[in-house]
Order: sequence, then C-alpha cells, then structure tokens
Amino acid sequence: MNRIISWIMGTFFRWLPHRAVTGLRPSGRPDADSPVLVTGNYSLTLRRLLAAIRGEDAWVLSADSGGINVWCAACGGGFTHLQVISAVKVSRLAEKVSHRVLVLPALAAPGVDAREVKEHTGFSVRFGPVRAGDIPAFLAAGRKKTPAMRHADFSLSHRLDMLLSMNFILWLPLALVFGIFFPHAFWGVTALFWGVAAVSYVLFPWLPGRTGYLRMLWIMGGVALLLGLAGAQWGSGPLAFWPWMIGGAAITTLVFFDAAGIVAPMASDAEALAFALGIKSLPGLLAEKPLGRVSQDPDLCIGCGLCLDICPLAVFEKPLEGKKPVTVRPGACFSCGACVLQCPSGALSLAGKAARPGG
Ligand code: SF4
Ligand code: SF4
Repeated sequence: MNRIISWIMGTFFRWLPHRAVTGLRPSGRPDADSPVLVTGNYSLTLRRLLAAIRGEDAWVLSADSGGINVWCAACGGGFTHLQVISAVKVSRLAEKVSHRVLVLPALAAPGVDAREVKEHTGFSVRFGPVRAGDIPAFLAAGRKKTPAMRHADFSLSHRLDMLLSMNFILWLPLALVFGIFFPHAFWGVTALFWGVAAVSYVLFPWLPGRTGYLRMLWIMGGVALLLGLAGAQWGSGPLAFWPWMIGGAAITTLVFFDAAGIVAPMASDAEALAFALGIKSLPGLLAEKPLGRVSQDPDLCIGCGLCLDICPLAVFEKPLEGKKPVTVRPGACFSCGACVLQCPSGALSLAGKAARPGG
C-alpha cells in the first residue's frame, strides 16, 4: 500500500512533500566496509536510489529533508549538515562501519557543509553523481566521477518525466472547475492545457530568451496564432476564438510559472519573482543568499578541484592536469552556492552581475 501511495505522490503530486522514514537501511548485504550512501527522505528519491543500487551491498542513510527532493531542499536550506550530522549520530553509524566516508548526492552540495559534517561526526563527505542511476558505475570506478556524472543535463527524458508530475497538480483545479461548472469546455481546456505543457517542456531548450518568462512569450504567440488561423478557417474571423486565446495565455502562464527552474539549467523564475516581491526565504524551499554569478580569486585558490567536482552546470574546467580549475562558463552559473559553500580556501564568491532574470 505504501508503495502505491508513494508512486501516486511521485507521479502526480511531486510538488508536495512526501516523507519517507529516516534512518539507516541495508541494500543487499552490507558489512563494515560497505559504502554509506546518504540521501534525503523524499520517498521518490529514496525509492529511485534503492532501485538504482539493487545488487550493490551498501548502507543507505536517509536524513530528514522535510520530504522534499535533495536539490530543492539543499538550495532552500532544508537539507544541510545539521540533518546529516543528526542522521549519522541517531543511526549510530560509527558503530556499524569501519571506514569514515559518506557519499552524498552532488546536488546536496548547496546545503551540506562537508567541513561541519567532518568536524561533528568524524565522517568525510564525498559528493557522488548527480543521478542515482550512475552510482553503481561510480562505486565500481573507485568513487570517481566522469564529467557526465557531474552534470545536470535536463535531457528530453528528464523533461518528459517532469511533464506529468509537475503539471498534474496545476491541471487538477482547472479540471475540477471546468468539470463541475463548464462541462462543455472540459475537454477543450484539458487538450489546450496538456498540449501547451507538452510543447513547452519538449521545446524549452530551443525557445529563444534569457529567462523562462521570455521564452513563454513564444508559446503564447504560437497558441494565439494557431487559434487565429482556426478562427479564420472555421469561425467568423481571426478573433473568433478570442476566449480560447485568453484561456491559452492564462494556461501558458500557469505552465511557465517555474518551467526554467524545473526543466532547464537556468535560474528559477519563481525564485527570482519571490525575491523581487521581497520574499527572501521560505523554510525548506527558498534560502536567503547572494544572487550574483560566481567569481573566483585565483590567488586564494589552492587547486583542490572541489568546485569542478560539484558544479552541476560545468562552470569550471581544468585547463591542464595538475593546474587549478578556472571559471570557463560564468554565464551558466545560476547561483546555487554549492561551490562557494564547499571551497576550502574562500576563493569563490557570488558577486557582481546578477545571475537572476534581469541580470
Ligand atoms: S574549490 Fe576553491 S580552492 Fe578548490 S579548486 Fe575550486 S576555487 Fe580552488
Ligand atoms: S558555479 Fe554557480 S552553478 Fe556552479 S556550483 Fe557554483 S554557484 Fe552553483
């Protein structure tokens, strides 16, 4: 029953928190030398992680992320070293394993300060791959990541995965209102909603515009054009279906509420809007932090390579083996703060030109 509820929540209500039980779980037959994989307590994340490492002997330590996925919770201050330290201590992990290494998802890096975890638990933090599916290969390679394992690619399959889960909850109130009060328009609105959502999510990377909201205008224009052509062909003129044009614009706005933050390696429009409205923090989802793009002080850099290892957008590169990483794509930075938090020498900061829309 729990699995069914978990599937329904993960498939149709992914925006809502859904807590799994925290604590230490075995995968396979782990012993004292087995790796410890730490994650949050969002039920879908935990389910996917356990499925990805089926056949591996490992410990899975689920820390309290408020039932929210690791990346959102880490960026929003809901998944930090405090939750990891607490999970390590409560589970008495030190009595179960002989080594002192925790493997965390790379996307936990904006929130979990590895130095704090080490200081308070004795465990070192190693940031693993972005995707759970890469963990077996990461472990097999001696906990080494390929460049592909480091990057959040927002591929078509990711965007299609998000399509149903992120839009169902937006469609539901529309379906209820139209189903009850305007049943004659129910199927038209449903087709318009899912058509706009599908085209937007599939085409998002190719729509021109620096922000998601600018890209939204292309979809709005496309919907208006199609309805105008339909009106000219089957109605009394290009504006014959004007109520549907207004409805199409409203639906597109709804779908694009935070499309940039969901299906693209871009700054979240919703977060930027919240900041512009003076909402600088929202427990678990939005944390007050600087908005600038990353800036690197080469004199302070000690060349540890951590920034290159954890940046999900490939902002850093190592020009030559043995050289210090350098900032090669500052424009790609979306201010997650991971590298700034983890840099051991204070060489990185978020400053200068804003990475948020309008910057
Ligand atoms: S994390 Fe900091 S010290 Fe390490 S390579 Fe990057 S900038 Fe240099
Ligand atoms: S460079 Fe920007 S996107 Fe990359 S880890 Fe640092 S803050 Fe995050």
